[in-house]
Amino acid sequence: MKSSRRTFLIASIGAASSLAMSQRGFAQAAKLDESDPAAVALGYRHDATKVDKAKFPKYTAGEDCGNCQFYQGGTADWGGCPLFAGKEVSKHGWCNGYVKKA
Ligand code: SF4
Repeated sequence: MKSSRRTFLIASIGAASSLAMSQRGFAQAAKLDESDPAAVALGYRHDATKVDKAKFPKYTAGEDCGNCQFYQGGTADWGGCPLFAGKEVSKHGWCNGYVKKA
């Protein structure tokens, strides 16, 4: 009885670890594609200096996701953004939804 309970607990911990690792792996892989229709609509580029300034005149040199109030990646190179739910944007990127972090 004790042995089967221990076996169950060990199996459960193993399954939970595998799930956590696969979710982390998936999150890292879910980078926003620049050709994604939502990214195109907002002029998102992984490299802020490559923003189409004629189409998105709001862009100002020095602005990027890393200093936008919506960036959820902290100091990481890639992080979430509520404008592109389920995808990660580059810390060096930019889109027309940019709002300078206070
Ligand atoms: Fe980057 Fe901000 Fe645009 Fe999100 S809203 S993609 S963090 S510039």
